[in-house]
Amino acid sequence: MRAGVSARSVAAVVLLAGAVLALTYALASLVPAPRAPRHEVAASHDAGPSHDAAGFWTTEPDRLGPDGAIVAPPEREEFACLVPRLEIPREAACERGEPYPACRWQLPAEDANDGLYTIWRNTTPEHRWARPGLVSLVLASVREYAMRWPGEHVTVGDLDAAGPRHQTHNRGVDVDLYLAHAMADRNEPGRAPIDNYHGLSRRAVRLHRARVLDFAKILARCSGGRLRIYYADREVVDTFRAWFAEEGLVSDVSSQPMQMHNDLHRFHFHMTTAEDLAVLPSE
Ligand SMILES: [Zn+2]
Repeated sequence: MRAGVSARSVAAVVLLAGAVLALTYALASLVPAPRAPRHEVAASHDAGPSHDAAGFWTTEPDRLGPDGAIVAPPEREEFACLVPRLEIPREAACERGEPYPACRWQLPAEDANDGLYTIWRNTTPEHRWARPGLVSLVLASVREYAMRWPGEHVTVGDLDAAGPRHQTHNRGVDVDLYLAHAMADRNEPGRAPIDNYHGLSRRAVRLHRARVLDFAKILARCSGGRLRIYYADREVVDTFRAWFAEEGLVSDVSSQPMQMHNDLHRFHFHMTTAEDLAVLPSE
């Protein structure tokens, strides 16, 4: 009998130990593994432009699906708004302290921009000039977008381009901006604009809108709210306006920072900024 009891005791102890072990394991799996510091995460990601030591990198590893695709927008809404270190062509009048239009900056060409952005196919070098404040805002914003959405980039269209294509774009304050990963439609000759989200799953549409909204927030923050964007997507417009007001931002360009416009503005932002927008600091 004693031997039997002893065997049962041993079995009970073994069972108990097993249960404790299993419980410990289960609890451990509930506690998230410590995250690597952001700057180390950034270093291992080798995508987009390099970040600075302040560690504002926002691409958490859990934003990527198993295939490496981005499946969630960045959580953090902290934007550095720094002008990337590029050679920016500028008129000699800028040196002499003269105002626009004598002083203008030119958005650097694609082969001189470190892969930060592409230039819209119809935008010529003459159409890349504008006020220094606007050029610096575009550069700081495309840098921010490329860091927040690794592997993607903004396409920059016309800045100053007075003529048949535009009624505006003649005061150094207008620019057209495109997001190839979020604005599916194209302005093909002879074809009416189709639905920007045609044929996409609801999840894909959500992510497209998240990109558009994130880029609008970058532009708003980096300009201090001093902008107006035309974009023809009611949901994006309403969400952006609510965020803008909640952030306490106020636009001195227009009563509303984002507005609906014609169908051409389904696939790009037309942005107008304040004339006296200050040049942003460099990285
Ligand atoms: Zn435009």
